[in-house]
Amino acid sequence: MQYLPIHFDTRGATILIVGGGPAAEAKLRTLLKTEAILRVVAEEISPEITRWAEQGKLQHEDRPFKATDLDGVSLLYSATEDNAYNGEIADMAAARQIPANAADYKDACRFITPALVDRAPVTVSIGTEGTSPALARALKADLETRLPPETGRFAYKTKALREKVKALMPDLADRQRFWAKILGGKDLTAQLRISEAELEAQVEAQLTGHDDIAGKVLLVGAGPGDPDMLTTAARRALHSADVIVYDRLVSDGVMELGRREAEYIYVGKTPGEPSIGQAAINEILIEKASEGLAVVRLKSGDPLIFGRADEEIDALQAHNIPVQIIPGITSAAAAAAAIKASLTTRGTNKAISLLTGHDAKGFAEQDWVSLARPGGRAAVYMGVGAARFIQGRLMLHGAEAGRPVTVVENASRPNQIIVYTTLKNLPDDIAASGIKGPAILLIGYAERRAETEIRAAI
Ligand code: SAH
Repeated sequence: MQYLPIHFDTRGATILIVGGGPAAEAKLRTLLKTEAILRVVAEEISPEITRWAEQGKLQHEDRPFKATDLDGVSLLYSATEDNAYNGEIADMAAARQIPANAADYKDACRFITPALVDRAPVTVSIGTEGTSPALARALKADLETRLPPETGRFAYKTKALREKVKALMPDLADRQRFWAKILGGKDLTAQLRISEAELEAQVEAQLTGHDDIAGKVLLVGAGPGDPDMLTTAARRALHSADVIVYDRLVSDGVMELGRREAEYIYVGKTPGEPSIGQAAINEILIEKASEGLAVVRLKSGDPLIFGRADEEIDALQAHNIPVQIIPGITSAAAAAAAIKASLTTRGTNKAISLLTGHDAKGFAEQDWVSLARPGGRAAVYMGVGAARFIQGRLMLHGAEAGRPVTVVENASRPNQIIVYTTLKNLPDDIAASGIKGPAILLIGYAERRAETEIRAAI
C-alpha cells in the first residue's frame, strides 16, 4: 500500500485551489462538503465557481498564482488546465511541507483524493492508487446503490444510544458483541433504513434479553413491469425480504430481483376466476410478520392506486405490525410515457381522473357529466371489459364521438401494444386488436403528431 487512507480534519483549515476551470470545479465539488476555508486563485473561473463565490462558499482571488499564496495553507490543489504548471506549483508546496495534489499528474501528487461515497458522517473512500479509475468508479456506483441515504442518520442514531448501552455494559468486549448483534445477522441495508423508534426498540429488546425482533410489512410498488422502472427503495426491499407476497400483474423481470432464499407466496386474483380473498391475504401478511419476518407485499404499479391497500394497512395496524409504503410508477404514468403524452396539458385539462372500469358491483359508475365535457380526460384502469359501457355512458352525456382514446396494453413491457382510436370506435378497435389487458384507456389522448388538430377539435 503506497498510499495511506486517512481522514483529514478540515475544521479551520485553509485549502488553496489554483485554477478555475473544469479540473478545479471537479475538486471543489468534494471540497465544498468539508468545513475548510476554500481559497481559489485564478484569473478565470467557471460559471459554477462564480456562483459558489457569490454564495460565499469560497474566496476567489482574481489574479495569477504567486508563491506567497502558500502561506498558512494546509492543503494545496493545483488544478489549472496546464499539467506541467500544476506539477511546478505542487513541487513548491511540497518543498514547504504542504501536502499537494496536482490534477491529472499523479507523479507530482503527494496525496490523491479517493472516489467517495458520501453518507456523512459515514464516508467510504475508494482508491486504486491510480491503477484503475474505471474500477474505482464502478465500485463507487455499486456502493452508492447499496448504501441507503439513511446510512448517515443511522450512525447519528447509534451515537445517541451508545451512551445508554455503555452505562449498562461497562465492558468494551460486551458492547462490541452487543452492537455486532444489532448490525449483523440480517440484511445490512434494510437495517440501516429502520426508523429511530425501531432501532430503540431493538436496542431495548436486546438489553432486556427480548431480542425476538418484530417483523414488518413493506407495501411495495412494483411499477408497470419494466424492472428499470422500480425505485431503488423497492429493489432494496426485494433484496432483503424474507417473504414476498405478490400479485398477478407483477412482472417476471421484477420477480427476478427478489432474494433467492425468500419464501414466495402468489396471491393473484384473475378476473372472472375464483381466487384468494382479501381476508386470506391479510391473514398471510399478519401471520408472516408475527413470526418476525420481513414481508414484502408486492403490488403492480403504485400500491396506493386501485390496490386495496387500505384493507391491508388497517388489518396490519390492528395487529400492531409496522407497515411501510414504497411508492411505484402507476400504469397510467407508464402508458402516458409510452405515447409521449403529457397527462395534463395547459389549456386543455386542469385535472385528470384515474378511474376504474369495474367496482365491487360490476361496471363502475362515474361522474359522467363532467367527464363528457369538452376537454375531459381520464385514465381508466381495468377498463378493457367495460369499454362499451364507458363509451355508451360518455356519449349519452354528450361526449363527442370523435374524442380520441388511446389504449396501452402491457405498458413498459416488451409486449406493449398501443391502439389509437376514438370514443366511437373504442370497443370495436379493442376487439379487433385482440387486447385483453392489462391495459389503460387514456380518454382524451391522441397520437402525438395529430395533437394540434385534436386540440382544435375538442
Ligand atoms: N396499482 C396498479 C393498478 C392495479 S389495478 C397501478 O398503480 O398501476 C390493475 C390494472 O392496472 C389493470 O387492469 C390495468 O388497467 C392496469 N395495469 C397494470 N399494469 C399495467 C401495464 N403494464 N400496462 C397497462 N395497464 C396496466
